[in-house]
Amino acid sequence: MRALVYHGPGNKGWEEVPDPTIRDDTDAIVQVDAVTICGTDLHILKGDVPAVTDGRILGHEAVGTVTEIGAGVKNVRPGDRVLVSCITSCGRCRYCREGRYGQCLGGGGWILGHRINGTQAEYVRVPFADNSTYPVPAGVTDEEVLMLADILPTGYEVGVLNGGVRPADTVAIVGAGPIGLAAILGAKMHSPSHIVAIDVAAGRLDAAKQFGADIAINSRDTDPVPAVMELTDGLGADVTIEAVGIPETFELCTQLVRPGGHVANVGVHGKPATLHLEDLWIKNVTITTGLVDTYSTPTLLRLVAARQIESARFVTHRFGLDEFLDAYDVFSRAGETGALKVALSRH
Ligand SMILES: [Zn+2]
Ligand SMILES: [Zn+2]
Repeated sequence: MRALVYHGPGNKGWEEVPDPTIRDDTDAIVQVDAVTICGTDLHILKGDVPAVTDGRILGHEAVGTVTEIGAGVKNVRPGDRVLVSCITSCGRCRYCREGRYGQCLGGGGWILGHRINGTQAEYVRVPFADNSTYPVPAGVTDEEVLMLADILPTGYEVGVLNGGVRPADTVAIVGAGPIGLAAILGAKMHSPSHIVAIDVAAGRLDAAKQFGADIAINSRDTDPVPAVMELTDGLGADVTIEAVGIPETFELCTQLVRPGGHVANVGVHGKPATLHLEDLWIKNVTITTGLVDTYSTPTLLRLVAARQIESARFVTHRFGLDEFLDAYDVFSRAGETGALKVALSRH
């Protein structure tokens, strides 16, 4: 088969590799019908994720058709259309028993395209297939479901639910890339009074408005702190969601939050950020961090099937599977190309 293979920082290829085979009786082999690229893959290609070594097939988001199952797989059968989630779950360890699959101790967690070969390929081996795949509901397209492999549960769980968004809250979301936009869609389900999107790219702020932000602030020319204070009677936002992953945006979130409010960090950070406890200690602020667990995936699948979430609107560019290098080029230059999510499909 062909696959997108990582060869150390800055090097990748779409090349011929051996087909995956069943190794454990809980594995399934899935033929990839649709797959996407994540911002995390760009981090890997820069060399920021040392666990990913030369020869690894990248990718942790896919929709596909099961072609083969191990003897112990009970929930899926060859021919089934399934979502392959970014998080794999052993189903047995302490964390999986608590629904915290992202922290799985039994060989799961974020392993696809990280510790084992991933989904940017014609076929992928999915460990613990019973717990790590989700049947695709009838009447839903591959692209609609593909957005549930990572960005929608991540924005919803680590942003909206960790942030405790409640009706009438003012929610400030810093970063209007795919994860920030997913947080906007998720926040809207909890009837906030205002969603404020903050970014430095005009195109992303336009997208934020289209996805449901009430106010879009370009922090390159407007200081978001007085703007949010004015909106909230001088208190600050009830919930701030960090969806960038740099020190400046995390610190901005701690300035924007009201006393008693929540800062939900979603961004993947590569450098230390300063926690200004000299200002925060007196404010009763809750700060959460997290890797997605994907416990919300069944809920989000039902919402997509019921047309309550328009998940396919993230997809701005479409490619065939053999156009992976072009897709990476477009996605990595999102500032110029306007790419939110790219979808590559077999059909
Ligand atoms: Zn991802
Ligand atoms: Zn586990």
